[in-house]
Amino acid sequence: MIDSEVIVLGGGIVGASAALMLAQKGRRVVLLERDFCGSHSSGVNYGGVRRQGRPLHQLPLSQRAHELWSDLPGLIGIDGEYVRSGHLKLARSHDDLAALQAYADATRGFGLGLQMLDHAQLRARFPWVGDVAVGASLCPEDGHANPRLVSPAFARAAQHHGARVMEQTEVTQVEHDGQLFQVRCANGVQLQARWLLNCAGAWASTVAAQFGEPVPMTSAHPAMLVTEPLPVVMDVSTGVEGGGIYARQVARGNCILGGGRGFALSPQQARPGQAAVLEILRNAGELYPFLKGAQAIRTWSGTEGYLPDHEPVIGDSSTQPGLLHGFGFAGAGFQLGPAVGEALAEIVCTGASRQPIEAFSIRRFQA
Ligand SMILES: Cc1cc2nc3c(=O)[nH]c(=O)nc-3n(C[C@H](O)[C@H](O)[C@H](O)COP(=O)(O)OP(=O)(O)OC[C@H]3O[C@@H](n4cnc5c(N)ncnc54)[C@H](O)[C@@H]3O)c2cc1C
Repeated sequence: MIDSEVIVLGGGIVGASAALMLAQKGRRVVLLERDFCGSHSSGVNYGGVRRQGRPLHQLPLSQRAHELWSDLPGLIGIDGEYVRSGHLKLARSHDDLAALQAYADATRGFGLGLQMLDHAQLRARFPWVGDVAVGASLCPEDGHANPRLVSPAFARAAQHHGARVMEQTEVTQVEHDGQLFQVRCANGVQLQARWLLNCAGAWASTVAAQFGEPVPMTSAHPAMLVTEPLPVVMDVSTGVEGGGIYARQVARGNCILGGGRGFALSPQQARPGQAAVLEILRNAGELYPFLKGAQAIRTWSGTEGYLPDHEPVIGDSSTQPGLLHGFGFAGAGFQLGPAVGEALAEIVCTGASRQPIEAFSIRRFQA
């Protein structure tokens, strides 16, 4: 029986960040991961570290995450190929450009520093963007990083600061005996603690339901591909108003593109699917003409949890004291992850998060 103060269920960027922040504050914490830390969404995502485009009530948390990302080596010991390249959101129609302008107006005061570019300004500054784009909004300090490096490094940093990290340890049973959480794992490990942090990604609704808080979470599988190395031309990470495709280029020249949805092979495995990949390539040819004829060398997907309102669940349980949730990031939790981990750690240590998280309460799903 392992006695701890806090058990964190799930070693993605959210759970690993919470474990890191708790360990840094001297708390006894165990991080439990069914597979390997960062092997699911957190390690296979597109790598977009952007605030632009988020709903307004996510922006305080996202701004805090932006601060945490600014000293990644200080936080996790590596730079994770994080670059503040800028994030360019393209508009394919004048209505889309008006929507970008409305977002820029609404978010003034949040510190995003958005710059609107008309067609001529876009051409002059980013000549590699296809003529189909009529304008864009640039967030100069957003950027991108390598999720395969960053997410496991959060767990390693937690371990370095004293957290006990247990991989290939699947939690199969969670109970509360009136005083402590009692947790059993498939490999025979048993633990108890006063706090349980439910950071199990697309699988977190099982624990929530067990404590009388069912949530209508579904899984989806964003499709991704990477090209062969090409001459470096893209100096920003890009997205498109209305969605459809996003793309970035890494220092060695490979372009990483995402868009559309793949499918599940099993509850834990996903594939991008031919239709989604062909759609990404079609969109890419229009928006980034230099990519025409480029070879895609790998495609992949991941499993991500979506609530109907596309907002995460963050904060305390409405039924069980000591239970905290942090899941359901709807394809946008990589950037937020460190700040969510910090918010959960603050609730454990001080009783409240410094950032406003009321909008993400699990109570919104109660009848
Ligand atoms: C293809 C793709 C592209 C994306 N692109 C971006 C992007 O560009 N920018 C962005 O901000 N976000 C992006 N996202 C979203 C982002 O990756 C996720 O929101 C974020 O990683 C969620 O982190 P997490 O820790 O909640 O979940 P996960 O990384 O899924 O971690 C949850 C962990 O819990 C573990 N677990 C589950 N059940 C158990 C159990 N019973 N016992 C033990 N462990 C368990 C799982 O094995 C898993 O490792 C993308 C997602 C995908 C799939």
